[in-house]
Amino acid sequence: MKIAVYPGSFDPITNGHLDILKRALAVFDKVIVLVAYNKDKKCVFSVNERIEMIKDAVKELKNVEVDSTDGLTLAYAKKAKACCLVRGLRAVTDFEYEFKMAEANHYIDKSIEEVFFMSNSEYSFISSSMVNELHLSGVKIDSLVPASVIKAYKNK
Ligand code: ADP
Repeated sequence: MKIAVYPGSFDPITNGHLDILKRALAVFDKVIVLVAYNKDKKCVFSVNERIEMIKDAVKELKNVEVDSTDGLTLAYAKKAKACCLVRGLRAVTDFEYEFKMAEANHYIDKSIEEVFFMSNSEYSFISSSMVNELHLSGVKIDSLVPASVIKAYKNK
């Protein structure tokens, strides 16, 4: 059974994240979407809000779990018996950051591979921070995020 962990801030989850998740599900038997948080990092949504939005967005998908950690993603992956970490690449700018992270992860534990999926051009401009900014400016973001995120903004 090939298990992958898809870690991120997911503040909030976007249709770009969901596209990467669906594609990872075609390759792995199970994907754990992992909200990796740091208590000192300011986020728009709480960890619980982020988890609830993700759970709602993936409710129709099979073989997905949603969890969170404030520790090392690799330690979580090892405990979950995952073989790989999944990450998405939107542009060259993502590559530099991801390349460094992958090297650091490899330094910590060589037994867990990182697998990268290229963003679909339709979603390549979407990021959580972009979505938050657009929402704050009153721009309609219905086609960029799942319905659970729109609901969560309304409840804020
Ligand atoms: P982090 O704070 O760890 O970068 P994010 O929640 O912003 O977490 O993103 C998690 C992962 O999803 C990253 O690998 C990021 O590059 C990828 N990702 C985010 N948005 C998109 C998108 N629109 N298309 C493809 N990959 C994406």
